[in-house]
Amino acid sequence: MKRNFDDIKSDLENKKYAVVGNSSGVQICNWTKKALKEEGGCWKQKFYGIKSAGCCQFSPSLMWCEHKCVHCWRPIELSLGNKLDKVDDPIEILDKIVLARKKLMMGFKGLDKVNKKKFQQACEPSLYSFSLSGEPTIYPRLDEMLREIRKRKAISFLVTNGQNPEMIRKLDGASSLPTQLTLSTNAPNKELYVKWHNSCNKDAWERFTETIGVVGDLKGKCRRCIRLTLVKPGKDSRFKLTEPNKLAQSQTQGFAKDITNMTEELVGDYTNLILKADPDFVHVKGFTSIGYARNRMGTDKMPWFIEVRKYAKKILTQLNKSDKNWKLLASDKKSCVVVLSKLEKKDMKIRTF
Ligand code: SF4
Repeated sequence: MKRNFDDIKSDLENKKYAVVGNSSGVQICNWTKKALKEEGGCWKQKFYGIKSAGCCQFSPSLMWCEHKCVHCWRPIELSLGNKLDKVDDPIEILDKIVLARKKLMMGFKGLDKVNKKKFQQACEPSLYSFSLSGEPTIYPRLDEMLREIRKRKAISFLVTNGQNPEMIRKLDGASSLPTQLTLSTNAPNKELYVKWHNSCNKDAWERFTETIGVVGDLKGKCRRCIRLTLVKPGKDSRFKLTEPNKLAQSQTQGFAKDITNMTEELVGDYTNLILKADPDFVHVKGFTSIGYARNRMGTDKMPWFIEVRKYAKKILTQLNKSDKNWKLLASDKKSCVVVLSKLEKKDMKIRTF
């Protein structure tokens, strides 16, 4: 029987998502909670100058994605496919998302550590981060939504799997590009890509490489990032086979146990993709085994920061063979991330409104 959004709403709400309309949802990022309590912000606050307290992590297509990536911490087992059943109005979605977020944050208002003025400011998002769950380019009115965000004097981060290059082109044509566009790159060649992503698109690799080209074409039009999430080899088989996990295992044919995307042989493939996209920043991140990913992948495939840094440096060496300007620009141990770029540190800061 085909599942629909209503069937999984209560499950999502139990996991502290606020569900909005027919396809959207919002959750409070842990870094937002920390920032509200004056306990610091995320690495993007540190380097890009965004305000974690004012960050609204949401999705207009919460349970829709073309892929079922093996490393995804979101509930891909409950995915509803790649086409929304009902398309809500973008302004209505944003209004309701802001309200729902405010409600989710209310518990913080009374805490001694929370500055009341800062709390009030944080209730009006200064950043809309399309990174919660689902693939945002599936939402057909994304261009209007991004324009509305700009009208509200906020910035936007859009993270995409690259399966809809035509939507990214549409955003460009409609002058609706996000402040920062991030393309997720987990497998740098067709063979691994097909295994890793379990996509419903037969031409998933071709769509992805087309988007790599589109990212290259957007140079100078918006900030562009390539994100690598590195998973090291491991053989953890301490899986607890509860129902959704059984489903996950059958969907990945059990191979998730052995999969890795940080071998020596892949360095050249990553380098070629990066050179083609010529992004402003490359985020090399370590996989975190949390949420549903823990049940699929076990816990021993999380690389240490030192391993991520070493792998990033190998890519950097290869990049420098074609272009000497690449450098290791920044890194953050806590978030297990290394940033490669040809730009300078001062260029990392985002100009806000
Ligand atoms: S930018 Fe990302 S990590 Fe930082 S507060 Fe927003 S959602 Fe969280």
